[in-house]
Amino acid sequence: MIIQGTAQAGEVRERADVVVVGTGAGGGTLAVYLAERGWDVVMLERGGFFRAEDFSQREEEAMGAFNGRRGLDSTVDNAIFLNYAQAVGGTTVHYWGDSFRTPHDRLERWRREHGLEWMTPAELDPHFDVIEEELGIHVAEEKLFNENNRLVRQGCEALGVDGHAVPTARVDCIACGWTQFGCAYNRKTSQLITTIPRISKSGGRIYSDALVERIVVEGGRATGVEGVFLDRATSQPRGRFRIDAGTVVLAGGALGTAELLLGNLKEPAVGKRFYINPHYFVFADFGREIDNVTGIPCAYAVHEWRQVRTTADGKYAGGGYIMLSSHQSPGITAAMLPETGAAHAERMRRYRRLGSLMSVIDEEHPGRVFLDGGVRKTEYRVRGVDAEKAVDFLQNASRIFLAAGAKEVWIPDTYGTVVRNEAEIRQISLASVQPNVQFCAGSHLLGTAPLGTDPDDSFAGPTGEAHRVRGLYVADGAALPGSVSVDPSLTIMGVARWIAAGLHEREGRTGV
Ligand SMILES: Cc1cc2nc3c(=O)[nH]c(=O)nc-3n(C[C@H](O)[C@H](O)[C@H](O)COP(=O)(O)OP(=O)(O)OC[C@H]3O[C@@H](n4cnc5c(N)ncnc54)[C@H](O)[C@@H]3O)c2cc1C
Repeated sequence: MIIQGTAQAGEVRERADVVVVGTGAGGGTLAVYLAERGWDVVMLERGGFFRAEDFSQREEEAMGAFNGRRGLDSTVDNAIFLNYAQAVGGTTVHYWGDSFRTPHDRLERWRREHGLEWMTPAELDPHFDVIEEELGIHVAEEKLFNENNRLVRQGCEALGVDGHAVPTARVDCIACGWTQFGCAYNRKTSQLITTIPRISKSGGRIYSDALVERIVVEGGRATGVEGVFLDRATSQPRGRFRIDAGTVVLAGGALGTAELLLGNLKEPAVGKRFYINPHYFVFADFGREIDNVTGIPCAYAVHEWRQVRTTADGKYAGGGYIMLSSHQSPGITAAMLPETGAAHAERMRRYRRLGSLMSVIDEEHPGRVFLDGGVRKTEYRVRGVDAEKAVDFLQNASRIFLAAGAKEVWIPDTYGTVVRNEAEIRQISLASVQPNVQFCAGSHLLGTAPLGTDPDDSFAGPTGEAHRVRGLYVADGAALPGSVSVDPSLTIMGVARWIAAGLHEREGRTGV
């Protein structure tokens, strides 16, 4: 049952076997596993409950309705836009649906550096198999490609660069192009239309507009959570709730989980590492109208540079990112382009001629999440080798578009950099990627309450249970030890499902 918290003015008290904070990739996946095996589940979601008919395909309405801080969250220096959703279904309501399994080299690194011995393909693949089946994940077929995707593929083929059609989470997609602002046709298989209805059918209660503020801990054990129902329009509290449960699972995303933990427990590792996979963007003017409006934003991705390359003496020589074909809506494109006045208008007039690529940088240097006077804030600097990766991305993305026939490529920095040939590409430098010199975003938010074996360096042990509070689990992007090096949602879901399976096995329920 979905219970709209925005209509609750009094006090709600409930008991459940497990209470799950957050309804996104991690929370939805874990909760459905348990609910369908006989667990009594309550989910709490600070965002609203929206259905297909609520998604108007207007970006300004969607950003105001369910983007974090209504589309205005950024690092403290305003250099990086933080993009995430607050809604039943979590950020999967926004997401594009690119669904990559965790690269084996990344699992190996997590085993080696964080003692997570179970993070092997053998353990995770059975979970990925089920999730892929349930979400209809399949390699994007040709009808989902728009011209931007085709041009990126063409550029890669011309240069002999490794790229692939993307595994995507959607069924019978009509390729309308508005996926980021909520799927109005129930074709993108977000948690909103996959796990949430199944949890509901299994007797789970899902409260929207329900902000968890306090984790109740008694005798070293989590016994429930407390919080307030929010008025959706004003975000002001309307009523209170308390849910008592033997198991508490945090799945509020890397920001939400960190904020809740920082306000409740003294935990040295929480918020210390904040990964975002910095996204830089290039725009390519093809001198003619191309279709980068319909289709799916990313049917084709470039994997050539996923791994860092080094010189014989160990210096950075390129790579450390993947590229996604990128469709940005008019309002967001306008915010990205740095010019003002007539120059800005001239660039926007060419909107329909623009192709775009974005980076997913596999960063070495994470930022941090902290509370300042009770307010959650973030710091993040793209620095050191990560800045070099950003420059390498801008150069290689420009090469791909020029090889595909672009007339010019725009680096959206405040210098108005435009490149038309290799000599100009080589001029792109670190100056372009200094803070606030060009638009940079993060939408893969990870690592703020990580799993690991060292209680001073991680929040939870390998099973997902907190080192210092029994019965308290983390099962979302916060739980990952670091960047995945590809889009993270399938990894988050796989890890959450693995944690759910362990929990179910240990607690010995006798359900399905
Ligand atoms: C525009 C966009 C496109 C993306 N595209 C892709 C893609 O194609 N592929 C991919 O792999 N990834 C993509 N991502 C990222 C992906 O969606 C996220 O990494 C993933 O959803 C994170 O899962 P999560 O469980 O950690 O958190 P979320 O899915 O963000 O869910 C957390 C939920 O918890 C709620 N919450 C937080 N704190 C509280 C609290 N105190 N009380 C109650 N509720 C709370 C939040 O409101 C939120 O709804 C995209 C992201 C964006 C913004």
